Parts: sequence; structure tokens; C-alpha cells
Amino acid sequence: MHEEERPLVGWSRVADSPEMLETIKKNKRSSLGLALVLTLLFPIGFLVAGLFSDEMPLNEAIIIGAVLGLLVLIINLWRFANMKQRAWNGVVVKKLEKRRYENNENTSPSYMEYIVLIKTDRGKTKRIAGRKWDRDMYDYLDIGDRVRYHPALATIEKYDKSKDEVIYCNVCRRRNPIGNDRCEHCKNLLFK
Ligand SMILES: [Zn+2]
Repeated sequence: MHEEERPLVGWSRVADSPEMLETIKKNKRSSLGLALVLTLLFPIGFLVAGLFSDEMPLNEAIIIGAVLGLLVLIINLWRFANMKQRAWNGVVVKKLEKRRYENNENTSPSYMEYIVLIKTDRGKTKRIAGRKWDRDMYDYLDIGDRVRYHPALATIEKYDKSKDEVIYCNVCRRRNPIGNDRCEHCKNLLFK
């Protein structure tokens, strides 16, 4: 793709490119494999422990393993269901910083949470929240910015990138200089 075909204002065509669709497919396949391994790991692990360890009765081991395996399965099914949701467009309407406490007491250790609220074209409010080490989107997005959510990658694209010096990779989420066509870290095409 040439530089002139990739203007900085407008939705990127990279999202629908054959290369990106292939990357999404590959990512899905490997996370499916990982989900399967994790789902089986608990029942098998506890079964082995139940068979060979004197400290764990076999029937207890089977129940615990099955419950944990089921839990992992549910979490992963929920994740895959989210991947299938439709892309949405919206506008950033609010940014807030909130002090959160580790537990209910105000004396407990606290941290800052950085929240971006987006109103979608269908009238829903979406929320991107990150802690101190994860405030990239909070700094990247301004009130009034038009954004698109790519569910297969679970990342955000900004419509107008013309005033930006950086762009975030929609595959690995790392920061890149806006001049790059490909991500410095994962080598995938940047969404511009
Ligand atoms: Zn990347």
C-alpha cells in the first residue's frame, strides 16, 4: 500500500484487507487453542492429583477440576461471543479520572482509574477504563473524537489521525510513530 492511498482522515481500509483478515483468523485460532488447553488442564491436573496424591480424595479432585474447567470454558465462550459483536462507531463525550481504593475502606491503598466515555451512533454509552500503567487510550482520545471499535481485535480506531504524532497498533496495542505503515513490534499493518 502506498502512502497516498492511506490518508490520515477517514476509517482505515486496513481492517478489511486480506492480510488483516488472515491475522485475525490466526489470532482467533491460537486463542481458541489456548482456551481448549486451559479448559482441559484443570480437570486433568486434578484427576492426576486425585489419583496419585494421598492428600486429595479422588472424588473431591474430580469435582474441583470439573468446576474450574467449566469456569474457564464459560469465560472463554463469553470472550468469543464478544469478538462476534458488531463494530460500532461513536464519539468521545467525556474523560474522567477517578481515585479507586483496593477495598471499601478509604484508608486502603489507592490507584487512579482513567475513564473514557463514548456515545455510540446507536445511542449506547461505552466505557474504556485503564489504570495508571494502562492510560494510553485516555491520553490518545480527546472529547469530540470520532472512533470505531473493532470487536475482532478489541481495539479502537480514531477517524481523524491527522493531528497525531503517534498511532496505536490495533493488533498488539503498542504505540508507533504516525509515519509508520507497519507496527514496529508485531509487524502488522497500522490502521491508517
Ligand atoms: Zn503491533
